[in-house]
Amino acid sequence: MSRNPRYDILFEPVTIGPVTAPNRFYQTPHAIGTGHQMPHTRAAMREVRAEGGWGVVNTGYCSIHPSSDDAPLPYSRLWDDEDIKVHALMVDAVHRHGALAGVELWHGGGGSANRLTRVTPMSASGISSNSTYPGWISLTSSRPMSRQDIREFRGWYVDAAKRARSAGFDVVYIYAGMGYGPYQFLLPWMNKRTDEYGGCLDNRVRLMREILEDVKEAVGQSCAIAVRFSTNELLDVPGETLESEAHEIVSMLADLPDLWDVKSADWSVETASARFSEEGAQEPWNSFVKPLTSKPVVGVGRFTSPDYMVSQIKRGILDLIGAARPSIADPFLPKKIDEGREDEIRECIGCNICVSSYHDGVPLRCTQNPTMGEEWRRNWHPERIPPGDPEQSILIVGAGPAGLECARALGQRGFTVTLAEAGRELGGRVTIESKLPGLATWARVRDYRTNLIQTMANVDVYRGSELSAQDVLDSGCNHAVIATGAKWSAEILGTNGYPMGGFEGGGVFTPDEILAGAEPEGPVVIYDFDHYYMGSCLAELLCKRGLAVTIVTPANAVSAWTFMSNELVRIRERMLDLDIATVFEQYATGFSKGSLTLASIFRSHDVGSIDCGSLVVVGIKTANDRLFRELNSNPDRIANAGISTVRSIGDCRAPGTIAHAVYAGHECARTIDTGDSLGRFALERPLISFKS
Ligand code: ADP
Ligand code: SF4
Repeated sequence: MSRNPRYDILFEPVTIGPVTAPNRFYQTPHAIGTGHQMPHTRAAMREVRAEGGWGVVNTGYCSIHPSSDDAPLPYSRLWDDEDIKVHALMVDAVHRHGALAGVELWHGGGGSANRLTRVTPMSASGISSNSTYPGWISLTSSRPMSRQDIREFRGWYVDAAKRARSAGFDVVYIYAGMGYGPYQFLLPWMNKRTDEYGGCLDNRVRLMREILEDVKEAVGQSCAIAVRFSTNELLDVPGETLESEAHEIVSMLADLPDLWDVKSADWSVETASARFSEEGAQEPWNSFVKPLTSKPVVGVGRFTSPDYMVSQIKRGILDLIGAARPSIADPFLPKKIDEGREDEIRECIGCNICVSSYHDGVPLRCTQNPTMGEEWRRNWHPERIPPGDPEQSILIVGAGPAGLECARALGQRGFTVTLAEAGRELGGRVTIESKLPGLATWARVRDYRTNLIQTMANVDVYRGSELSAQDVLDSGCNHAVIATGAKWSAEILGTNGYPMGGFEGGGVFTPDEILAGAEPEGPVVIYDFDHYYMGSCLAELLCKRGLAVTIVTPANAVSAWTFMSNELVRIRERMLDLDIATVFEQYATGFSKGSLTLASIFRSHDVGSIDCGSLVVVGIKTANDRLFRELNSNPDRIANAGISTVRSIGDCRAPGTIAHAVYAGHECARTIDTGDSLGRFALERPLISFKS
């Protein structure tokens, strides 16, 4: 297939200072959870993006000096010459595919706690940022930088830039955003200096300008110098000559950098999940930049639609289409557009499981792309997969995310596949959950897979086919894969925090029942100890049906786990907007005659109650594994039926996120014929060096 000429504009080269990007697809700097310790994993994760057609591929944040240490979060570093070769591995991998490699030089200033290095953090005026936000509290504040510190600070950038050039990078970033180093000098509320680096905007911009000039002089002949600048906070600060200080800063530095990379100051806004933002939501704080500079501008916006990308270019918002999440979900997005295969794009669903992996300090996981993070360790490629034996037939029972991914990947391998689904609709939980407020994009997990499956002659799909153990035995398959999912139970927690018996009787509902259309009587209490999205999504759903809703939870926040997916604050805002009441740090201990009894999680004798018409329990999911257990109860029967293996995958094996289910489906498809569910599992090993 050939490219739709409508998208030609996306494949135009873009000059960035002394280098040229082969097209407009730009993987912006983003953390991938490998830090400095996993160079092979990192190189492979970046390489696959270059192979997939991204014209520029960047590192995540790369510290220039031990005074900028974000441990235990995984960052990379260029602290001395020994650090160069770790980066060269990635640069060479990216260059193999004709893409440019960029490095995001980062100094956190007062925004890095230096937990590992124990260097006293430094900032413009020693003012701590985010000190009221528990996730960011560190037990030390920063010290104000002296003029000597500033001289050294500038020198660290130059040293790191030279190392970056030695590693082979084509683009060198100066990170002036998100509360970090040079950005703190720009902010009037962080910079209270009375010397030439503080006060008027000219003075606050001075350090930025000096670093840019220094780095340009040092490496600007061969490397493009990019600025990553957070705009939205300063857009709210009125300027003296222009509309805002953000406008003024961009116009003051306009053509000094070779590239402007513009973004929000708040990561939870920039990476807002699909529940809280649309594609292209950053446009209001990106669009003012291009008219103020002749240099190319890049920005993100969870862009997955090529038409939307074209419109960003044609309307003069951006020159380069920046992406983190869309490039994670589909490293081959540009290639697919180039080859006229838009239908095959694995669109990011905006769930932010990837963000949570970074917070977990592990290589990225992605709901849509099960190979992400496994490229080097398990030798998994997002598009290629070893061929299988077409003579081998595989029966998959259940077409949720696990069964669909398994069928798609087995079909791609060339096996003879039968997928049986009890319901009329495919997609299992994603079809159901995508009807919850804000989760429509989650149906992409189903659509990507069903689109491909329907083109595969070797995959037969049967809807409305609830299979029994006997059906499986009679099927004549060589392998059976049971992907029958899980269901929510009404079991609750005891006052010791462990699950105990559930509530019986009328007025008690599970999420499955609500999602199947049950109409609880109001007022409704949602007792949430799942702590992810379901409790707050149901609250929103029921509230929009006109019911009064209260969320009761043993946690101290609504959807407490969503701190990990950068959604916690947005969810709380939404609950407040909808007048959804909350009761925190309470166990539910009993429910009868419209009264829910509660006990404090701290002092179980501290009891209370809430009157309500109905109770929705959101906590435990139990595996739908009856079919799997029944089959396995008689191994001889399986053998006599000619079935070599029976495996369970996804929620039926162990209930979890959709990402777990997709991963399980993919893993099963890759290993169905080897019988080895782990396979290659390469380990990164620390290099032992001797102290000089
Ligand atoms: P997962 O997330 O693990 O993919 P889901 O709950 O999303 O699990 O999907 C499981 C699917 O399995 C559902 O669509 C359900 O209708 C289907 N299913 C359950 N039992 C059977 C069965 N015996 N035969 C066919 N399909 C089944
Ligand atoms: Fe997109 Fe979710 Fe994958 Fe992140 S984990 S890239 S948000 S689909």
